[in-house]
Amino acid sequence: MLKGWREVVIGFVIALFIFLGIIGVNILPFVGVALVIGVIYLAMKSRGGSLTVGRQQRRVGGSSKPSYLTFEQIGGQERAKQELIEALDFLINHEEIKKFGIRPLKGILLTGPPGTGKTLMAKAAAHYSNAVYAAASGSEFVEMYVGVGAGRIRDLFKQARDQAVKEKKENAIIFIDEIDVIGGKREGGQQKEYDQTLNQLLTEMDGIYSNSTPRVLVIAATNRKEMLDSALLRPGRFDRHIRVDLPDKKGRLHILNIHAENKPMDNSVQLDTIAVQSFGFSGAQLESVMNEAAIYAMREKLEQIEQRHLTMAIDKVMLGEKTDREATNEERRRVAIHELGHAIIAEIVRPGSVAQVTVSPRGQALGYVRHNPLKDQYLHTKEFLESQIMIALGGAAAEEIFYGGRSTGSSNDFEQSLQIVETMMNAGLTNLGITNVQIVTQEERMKENERIMNELFKRTRNELESHKMVFEKALEFLISEEVVSGDQFRRIFCDNIQLPA
Ligand code: ATP
Repeated sequence: MLKGWREVVIGFVIALFIFLGIIGVNILPFVGVALVIGVIYLAMKSRGGSLTVGRQQRRVGGSSKPSYLTFEQIGGQERAKQELIEALDFLINHEEIKKFGIRPLKGILLTGPPGTGKTLMAKAAAHYSNAVYAAASGSEFVEMYVGVGAGRIRDLFKQARDQAVKEKKENAIIFIDEIDVIGGKREGGQQKEYDQTLNQLLTEMDGIYSNSTPRVLVIAATNRKEMLDSALLRPGRFDRHIRVDLPDKKGRLHILNIHAENKPMDNSVQLDTIAVQSFGFSGAQLESVMNEAAIYAMREKLEQIEQRHLTMAIDKVMLGEKTDREATNEERRRVAIHELGHAIIAEIVRPGSVAQVTVSPRGQALGYVRHNPLKDQYLHTKEFLESQIMIALGGAAAEEIFYGGRSTGSSNDFEQSLQIVETMMNAGLTNLGITNVQIVTQEERMKENERIMNELFKRTRNELESHKMVFEKALEFLISEEVVSGDQFRRIFCDNIQLPA
């Protein structure tokens, strides 16, 4: 009934002004006052209406909202999902845990790289435990004014509880993304405002009791767990930590399948191959691959998404959009030789590993070789790391052989090689032995670095010298085609290997 009261008031005021005007009253001062009141009202409204309402309030919702999500809609992350479900069962079976005198779980911390599905997990948790879901990001609590952040935390908890009561639900899940923004270590240097916000969060968490409904569970997410204040992590607060990592091959395939569900896929599409080629991708990047592939198919006015669209989408997500940079013929030739140098070494040290060789510029790269990781690998031997360095040095070594000198095109390759040498030093895989690298002198490190790089550069160059025929056969083909698949490249490679006499 009261919904249209504003319209009634506005209509009444306008009618009054018209009436006063007709009977000859000077209405200008009244109009001025009405305008000032209107401006003040609009300003207050844009700051949050009742002024105590934070932005996060608008994201409080019940399970009736279609944004809800189940654990089945989250690809991979089997271990993390299981751990979370176990923790949620505590919330659901609260009578059971009371019998055993188990303290209720108040906070769960999800840690892991961006885009791995932490937010999805929190949403699915709310659905699983039939809870209302309230979400906010750490950055939403950051304000210049002391006390505002703390007030917003209070609002968030109150809103979640009120919403649960309104929807007659026993549980409420509060999700705080980027918790590190407000929960960073307090080492004296931080602002008072951050302290107050964090203190308020701790106070709210301390006020969560298992015997009062609605029962509240706080789920927080961060990419930087090491930054968090110990007060947040102590038992009784965020004492359950669940790692949400980058997906392995099986997980990637699962995620690709989930995001393929609403898309028209050609029968020949092999998502298995895409899962292999997208090693190191997060769930968000995989979603983007499916999305970009669909855009490519639509641009070509096709009915279905084909395998090549997915391959193109991987390149796009990995390196950025194709650029219009026009290279001279000489530059293109040099880029092709450089990339073939990488590809030939890759095929020598890890047969079957080249997925694609390209000489069309994309993002910052003038050309690139995409490698197939043969299997997900988390432990690396010295031999493996050395072969990685050789692949990175292949481009520069090829330029030396064909042009007698190198170009600026190798700077990234060198950076990558030096990082691998650093890893080797830290892992005791160099002639420095097993040592604390902090106490090794700069000079010793430089010497060891130089020794490793020189030795591997020489080995790389020798290998390429003995595969000159592959360069000769593949060069024109690569320049004219711009993109050569791993299988096409391998055919040329195998047909032109010169076996030692
Ligand atoms: P951030 O740390 O940057 O906040 P996040 O870990 O919370 O990231 P989400 O917001 O959950 O990541 O994921 C972003 C998007 O990526 C999702 O909307 C979804 O499309 C996709 N995605 C990420 N992980 C998965 C997954 N495991 N299964 C299916 N889709 C996923």
